[in-house]
Amino acid sequence: MSTAIGAAPRTAPVTLDLVIPFFNEEEVLATLLTRLRSAFSAERLRAQGVSAVRYLLIDDGSSDGSAAVLAAAIQDGLPATLVRFSRNFGHQNAVSAGLALSKADVVAIIDADLQDPPELVLDMVALWRDGYDVVYARRRRRAGSLLKRVGYALFYRLIALLADVRIPLDSGDFSLLDRRVVRAMGALPETLRFPRILRAWVGFRQTGIDYDRPERGQGTAKYTFIKLYRLATDGVTSASVRPLQLAQVFSVTYLAVIVVLGALVLAFPRWPELGVPPWALACYLLILSGNFVQVFCMYILGAYVGRTYLETKGRPPYVIMEVVEPLATGGERAR
Ligand code: UDP
Ligand code: MG
Repeated sequence: MSTAIGAAPRTAPVTLDLVIPFFNEEEVLATLLTRLRSAFSAERLRAQGVSAVRYLLIDDGSSDGSAAVLAAAIQDGLPATLVRFSRNFGHQNAVSAGLALSKADVVAIIDADLQDPPELVLDMVALWRDGYDVVYARRRRRAGSLLKRVGYALFYRLIALLADVRIPLDSGDFSLLDRRVVRAMGALPETLRFPRILRAWVGFRQTGIDYDRPERGQGTAKYTFIKLYRLATDGVTSASVRPLQLAQVFSVTYLAVIVVLGALVLAFPRWPELGVPPWALACYLLILSGNFVQVFCMYILGAYVGRTYLETKGRPPYVIMEVVEPLATGGERAR
């Protein structure tokens, strides 16, 4: 694929920012730092024409020693900025913060638990040099429990089915973005931010790179089922309003069916004397089950009304408590 018409060829040295959100990941951090140092060694960076790399470590309100470990690594020369939220605001908001704070030519997003192999990022840079603006990682196979794997597979397919824009299957936040893409995403005004949906929405030239998603390095998954459920509903509601339209179609169809059945019941007024024929019972049950339709539609409606309410409040998606930077650029300081 060629680069954009009029754009400079992507052969010049580039800077790379890596957004790494984390929440209580103390156990895995030592391995993460080792992997980062070898994946982004001076030779590997040079080979890919990357002039500088910076890790944007977003602490999503950790209560363990994660932040202290990383602050110490920064004082020891790790090219990183540690940004600490005032509490846990959620993974999606941590990713959004990292993107907002990034300044490099290309920006990658990876999980801290090593489920997104950092070594893949430079392969993504190579694809960016070929002219792609978004390179997302696509999970060929995923480790983990059957329930979680099936849940994720259904989630991605449901979103792809409902969304108004093309959402690639089996790809999460792990991706590399061109500066212009980061800027376009940052210009979207919503406070309930779902980066991978925004990434699909902004367009540009996008491509996928396949990988097998390994088990997490150490520690335990920070996404509980409740958080995953919220992630799924946030994803669906931010991708599309189609469930609302479906609820309308569903209600109107149901209404038509019970009107016809109600007319049938009225047309046979003497049915009690004849005993209860099965169809009458069916009508009765169907009319009763209207309640379920109502509750289901209320559920869909509620999902959107709640989010509309939150959006109108216009609160920021996160609050930054502290920023730790290498000494050369100002040292440790609180903001
Ligand atoms: N994470 C976060 N905030 C949270 C939950 C998770 O920043 O509230 C981080 C977590 O530390 C990890 C990434 O998001 O770096 C993905 O989380 P996890 O590994 O628990 O999720 P899964 O692998 O199950 O998608
Ligand atoms: Mg994980």
